Amino acid sequence: MNGHLAPVGDGPTAKQYEHGIQVIDEEKSFNTNLNDYLGETHVAEAGFNYHLISVFGSQSTGKSTLLNNLFKTDFSVMSETARQQTTKGIWMSKNKRTTGPTGPSAMADNILVMDVEGTDGRERGEDQDFERKSALFALATSEVLIVNIWEHQVGLYQGANMGLLKTVFEVNLQLFLKDKQSQTRSLLLFVIRDYVGQTPFTNLCDTLTQDLSRIWSTISKPQGLEESKIGDYFDIAFEGLPHKLLQPERFVSEIDQLSTRFTAGHRSAQDESGKLTGGLFLPEYHRRIPADGLSVYAQGVWDQIVNNKDLDLPTQQELLAQFRCDEISREVLVAFDAVILPLEEQQAEATRLGKPTLVLPDLGVAGSGARDKCVRAFETQAGRYHKGVYTTKRGELETKIDARLKALYQTQLSAAHKAGVVSFSEAVTAAVKAGQKAGGAYEFAEIVDKQKKTALDVFRKEAQSLLIQGVAWTNFKPQYRLFEKELDEVSARLRKEEMRRLATRVERWVKSRLTDAVGLEFNKLGSGRGGSGAPENGDKLATEKDLWDRVWSSFSGIVREAETRFADRAKSFEASPEEVDVGLWRLRRKSWVALREKIEEEMMESNILMKLRENFEDKFRYDDEGVPRIWRPTDDIEGVYTRARESTLSLIPLLARFRLAETYAAPDLPAFVGVQPAGVEPEDEEDLLPIGGVDEEEGKSLEEEMTVLSESKRQDLVVRFKKMADGVYVEAKRSAIGGITQ
Ligand code: GDP
Ligand code: MG
Repeated sequence: MNGHLAPVGDGPTAKQYEHGIQVIDEEKSFNTNLNDYLGETHVAEAGFNYHLISVFGSQSTGKSTLLNNLFKTDFSVMSETARQQTTKGIWMSKNKRTTGPTGPSAMADNILVMDVEGTDGRERGEDQDFERKSALFALATSEVLIVNIWEHQVGLYQGANMGLLKTVFEVNLQLFLKDKQSQTRSLLLFVIRDYVGQTPFTNLCDTLTQDLSRIWSTISKPQGLEESKIGDYFDIAFEGLPHKLLQPERFVSEIDQLSTRFTAGHRSAQDESGKLTGGLFLPEYHRRIPADGLSVYAQGVWDQIVNNKDLDLPTQQELLAQFRCDEISREVLVAFDAVILPLEEQQAEATRLGKPTLVLPDLGVAGSGARDKCVRAFETQAGRYHKGVYTTKRGELETKIDARLKALYQTQLSAAHKAGVVSFSEAVTAAVKAGQKAGGAYEFAEIVDKQKKTALDVFRKEAQSLLIQGVAWTNFKPQYRLFEKELDEVSARLRKEEMRRLATRVERWVKSRLTDAVGLEFNKLGSGRGGSGAPENGDKLATEKDLWDRVWSSFSGIVREAETRFADRAKSFEASPEEVDVGLWRLRRKSWVALREKIEEEMMESNILMKLRENFEDKFRYDDEGVPRIWRPTDDIEGVYTRARESTLSLIPLLARFRLAETYAAPDLPAFVGVQPAGVEPEDEEDLLPIGGVDEEEGKSLEEEMTVLSESKRQDLVVRFKKMADGVYVEAKRSAIGGITQ
């Protein structure tokens, strides 16, 4: 140990990672805490801004010592007194060097170093197996492979080093054969230890280069790569270090110098001698595994290696991308849920409570904000992974988010729709009521137009607030049109109600006019003056004979006027011609029924009997000049009586049927009512009474409709009238005799 105890990270577990982390242990199992370590050391958040270096070499060649000095790490080194191998498996540590030769360290950010257990010889099969596996693992992850050798080993084309390099080359070809599209290269950095300086350094480099070419030529190359050269895959650099124990100060100062090389570099920085002069980290060395996926990737790679499966890096990268994209997707959805879940719950609650008109305030802002944040976060983190996988997963994420938002937005719009319909209909009704209170001077069509505009405005604003630029499904024009359509339907219903109110008003007016007009005509019967049948009484006769003509003509006059009123008013609130036609048709029918009722009232037995009596008495008691008769015994009381009685009796058949004098037929009621308009709906008919001769299927003829007194009632009336007339006659007779005796 070099006693360097600076904490690795800021977290509470920093102490735990004092010596770095054992990525692969003696049992060849992978340490799943690697991600934890990368998090502790803040590498995980670095994206691609990190570097990975592995060291190789025989056991006890000072590898750990080199790393600890170069990167200020704290890998275990062999104790100088008890000689035993200490590095087991593969360890990793983050660079902790803070100073360079002349001041603060200028090394690249986030350098991760892997200290790989060295091999002790070629004979041990177990060693060879681990050597191959660790070489594969290092090559799949590292940009720079440091090969640590003694100076005196250079040129000895044998031993562990050469075997190790052969393994590295073979494994490299095997790995990157499958990964042709990525131009992955690696740097082999030979660090020659205990370099004394007797042999010129360039000679050592040449010797090593020749050795490497020789090794390259001996490895079996896959088909198609027989002609490949070492330089197709590797850059090679050399560094010499003085003896640590013999020249401790120079050892330290040269290591300080070497540390400055661990920065970003360019290919042009390589000079003729092969000694790198610029930074060692060339972009093409980077394995392009995002730091937050490094542990998962490393584990996947190691699993394949340890199970002797074919290691296929592109597949590993895709698997990694899938795993990480899913993970990132879940992470970014947490923030999305935090915003969206409460809103979803509010909607669900409203539904449970039967409040489907709940419109959440500022939903669009919340929704698009959450969506944007979520997608952006995914973009930043997952965008570094395999493009194809990323694109697919991004699509999946958007689909997931949009499904949630869609449900939210649709419920919102449906609530806005329902709330809008309710408030529209309430506003129209209230305005109509206010108008009625203010004397009925309101324009229904104007009220509807104004309220519709208001309702549409509110809905449009809500729909527009949900719009997300570039997201097609957030265009809610169809919903807007649907809302407008429903408003029109509601308007039509309200207009119909308004029509009904208007119809009721007009019908009431018709009734009151009929009461006056028909009453007047029937009253005329009672005031029938003078005798009957006399030529000078032509007017009088005409009055009685054309009773029905006058009733009919004032009836049709009243109805025509009512029709004009109705149509004018209905048109003012934009009722359709069909609706007006239906209204007029109903009005004519209802007016006729009102007339019938009025006539029936006049013809009630007590009423008509009184009219007949008055009629008779007028004719009997008054002379042609309208002077009351004073009966004398010589008068032809009987004759006057008979004429008056017959005259009044002749009214009964006249009254019994609604007939026009000229044609002696019923008025053309069917023509008056007119054919049923096409727009009549069931509810328009439900309060209508059948009319004989008009509604053929009712089985009642026009003749029956026009019958005011049935045959039996007629006879009854005759009998009762006669009795009554007889009484009047007897009284007259008595008064005549009485007049004489007086
Ligand atoms: P590793 O097994 O390759 O990691 O070797 P270690 O770093 O554990 O060191 C093995 C032994 O070599 C230790 O006793 C060190 O003191 C010694 N050692 C370290 N660096 C040097 C060096 O530069 N020169 C020599 N001759 N010995 C060294
Ligand atoms: Mg070691």
